[in-house]
Amino acid sequence: MKKLNKDLLESLTVLYVEDEEMIKEEVSFFCKRFIPNFHVASNGLEGIEVYKKINPDVIVTDIQMPKMNGIDMLRELKTTTPVIITTAFSDIEYFLYAIELKVNKFIIKPVDLKELLTNIQESVVSKRLQDRLFEKENVLKILDENVLMSVTDKDGNIIDASSIYCELIGYTKEELIGNTHSILRHEDTPDEFYKEMWEEIKKGKIFKSEIKNRKKNQEEFWSNLTITPVLNQEGEIENFLAIREDITNKKKLEQLAIKDETTDIYNRRYFNTIIEKENRRLTREKTTLSLAIIDVDYFKSYNDTYGHPKGDEALVAIANVLKLKSSRASDYAFRLGGEEFGLIFTSNSVEESFQFLESIIEEIESLKIAHENSLCSEYVTISAGLIIVNSEKLLDSKDMYRLADKALYEAKENGRNQVVLSSFNKKD
Ligand code: GH3
Ligand code: MG
Ligand code: MG
Repeated sequence: MKKLNKDLLESLTVLYVEDEEMIKEEVSFFCKRFIPNFHVASNGLEGIEVYKKINPDVIVTDIQMPKMNGIDMLRELKTTTPVIITTAFSDIEYFLYAIELKVNKFIIKPVDLKELLTNIQESVVSKRLQDRLFEKENVLKILDENVLMSVTDKDGNIIDASSIYCELIGYTKEELIGNTHSILRHEDTPDEFYKEMWEEIKKGKIFKSEIKNRKKNQEEFWSNLTITPVLNQEGEIENFLAIREDITNKKKLEQLAIKDETTDIYNRRYFNTIIEKENRRLTREKTTLSLAIIDVDYFKSYNDTYGHPKGDEALVAIANVLKLKSSRASDYAFRLGGEEFGLIFTSNSVEESFQFLESIIEEIESLKIAHENSLCSEYVTISAGLIIVNSEKLLDSKDMYRLADKALYEAKENGRNQVVLSSFNKKD
């Protein structure tokens, strides 16, 4: 457990906004022992009032509240004060808004009181360090106890690490020293990530990114990583300083908010976000954007024949193919609902997009998931409608969806197990 800095906590003013009486009482009773200036409000409106009176160092807020919710309160406040959000899984609807407001710290309810205190402490430490308010002699100790920090030589061998960092990852300082950060590597982080990172920092540039790692106990954790090259007097790189912010809770919630539980690919909510985002990007960049709407053929009779659980298994198998096929950073696979999927991707031409979809359709059939009552194949198959737009030929997201769906309907009419290109592209 991270050390509580009692003097620091005592000097803070905190605003806590929560509507549920029981939680509010429990949390404020505990926190007031460490933070005498711990102020409480019961909803967003009251929160704004109290904020104006006390000008807090940190805001801790619930999301769903009567009168005004936590998100609207933060929007209204437009504050640079660090924010910690306490959230229940049922608040997922609001979660993405919190991310937009650049909130990084989330505590998942039920609130772990010590976790809350350490988070409050951590938020002000980084804020105050930015403000250079700390006395010099205290800084090293404060850094050691509060900042996830490690130092390597120019080849990446660890030569020092802060206590709090060692604690988080579960290695002792002795175990770390002499090792490289590859002991923390997560198998999902690709080689290219590290290649790019080294290219940047070897040039003396600062590297910033989100990264997923594994602790000694194999638990995964996410951080916002910043690596800064440290130069010697001759201007050569001598060390690299890595500073991390723990964003594991944020990432966990993010995954919940944007992924479909059954198939572990993105959900419809995220589809709506991404299609808008990619469409906006088109107006700035000279690329193409392809959208495919995919639907499983004769899936009702598949369920009727083999049962619903088998149907779910087939959906997972299809989703896995779509996921593998869309592994580039600009490609996304979605489950749009039921047995309907979506793909958003970039390509160099209409032909390339079309062939890509054809290859997916073939690949699904070659999974050889038996479907004896299908009228178009011995196996489970899919149909797809495809549309491609570019910076010169634009459509809004709704029209893209509508036209791709229309093409899908044609694919069904034409006998299924095929892709049909939207009339929008055929008229070229
Ligand atoms: P078509 O080839 O025209 O698409 O025929 P279809 O039978 O696939 O289309 P229809 O829309 O009539 O039926 C879709 C079926 O998909 C209905 C439902 O049983 C099944 N389905 C939807 N969601 C799920 C799901 O989550 N799991 C399972 N197992 N089946 C689902
Ligand atoms: Mg609430
Ligand atoms: Mg279907």
